[in-house]
Amino acid sequence: NNTLSELAASIRSIPDYPKPGIIFRDITTLLGNPRAFRRAVDELVQPYAGTKIDKIAGMEARGFILGGAVAHQLSSGFVPIRKKGKLPHETVRIAYSLEYGVDEMEMHRDAVQPGEKVILVDDLIATGGTAVGATKLLRQIGAEVVGACFVIDLPDLGGRKKLEELGVVVHTLVE
Ligand code: 5GP
Repeated sequence: NNTLSELAASIRSIPDYPKPGIIFRDITTLLGNPRAFRRAVDELVQPYAGTKIDKIAGMEARGFILGGAVAHQLSSGFVPIRKKGKLPHETVRIAYSLEYGVDEMEMHRDAVQPGEKVILVDDLIATGGTAVGATKLLRQIGAEVVGACFVIDLPDLGGRKKLEELGVVVHTLVE
């Protein structure tokens, strides 16, 4: 699809960032391009159009930018999932795996009510550690995780598969 290749072309690749041997996919160039940003949000929203989604859960920090726009389009609420220590009210917390080591993410305990339908949004899925952690956290407080969407999938890293094995329907735009 023509416009999806335009979307892919709007993403900048930075070699050896943050470490030698890693190619970082920089979406600031997509966000700064009006056509690409609109198209990305439209494409992320498309599978859920006409469905009642209670909350969009966005992962810090690029998931906030995309997730906020998706929430607006779907008339849903927005819930930030943050690195530990940033949220002021009572939280639930979960450890999740990074490429090297572990970290913790958290959300407000009262941000989602049991049974509410939630879509996860982030810019990119790699190993899936972040999205799997967020899914478990949301389920822990009784949310129904009805889907997850990402602009970029890095299929060789297997994250999409891991998330699908948890029963989450995954939607991505470019590989
Ligand atoms: P995962 O947990 O799936 O291994 O990594 C995905 C998380 O790390 C996402 O929150 C994503 O924003 C970030 N991330 C990892 N690699 C990249 C990259 O190359 N580009 C961008 N934009 N984000 C990345």
